[in-house]
Amino acid sequence: MEYIQIRKFSSSSSFFILRRRSETRLVRITRCSHSLGMDLEITDHALATLIHCAATCAPNEGCGLMLGWGRKVGTALPTKNVAADPACHFEIDPLALIAAHKAARHGGPEIVGFFHSHPNGLARPSATDAALAARDGKVWAIAAPDRDGAWAITCWHDGPDGFEELSYAVIAG
Ligand SMILES: [Zn+2]
Repeated sequence: MEYIQIRKFSSSSSFFILRRRSETRLVRITRCSHSLGMDLEITDHALATLIHCAATCAPNEGCGLMLGWGRKVGTALPTKNVAADPACHFEIDPLALIAAHKAARHGGPEIVGFFHSHPNGLARPSATDAALAARDGKVWAIAAPDRDGAWAITCWHDGPDGFEELSYAVIAG
């Protein structure tokens, strides 16, 4: 199998998302052997789900929840984008959000954060994202096409002073 490197996860790591040359979406993610020093851990399964959502929702923005514990994202849960103009905005389905909060209260995974895609933009928070941010400490993951058409993912901490980029490690999950 021939793979090409499409994205280094962060400047401080040596782990990569790979894709097969003939594919248009991610088919394989390398796993890191350790995640020491990373701000976040995301399972390869969650990352693949997130990328699949971004790819299938394009040209609209895809969105969803990232569920897990503390700083570990175990699952990405795609939700409906209920924004009036989903081609350039996202709004997570409030029913899915309520259901996830309810599940968390009953011992289920926490809502670590949210993800959405910028099918025509950059993998970083837009001005709209900054304006809508709750600054509640949640993690935002943003997917956008790289120059070669593969999806790049960045993660951000939505803190009191605005968005700060987080490093992350991909773990088996
Ligand atoms: Zn955005």
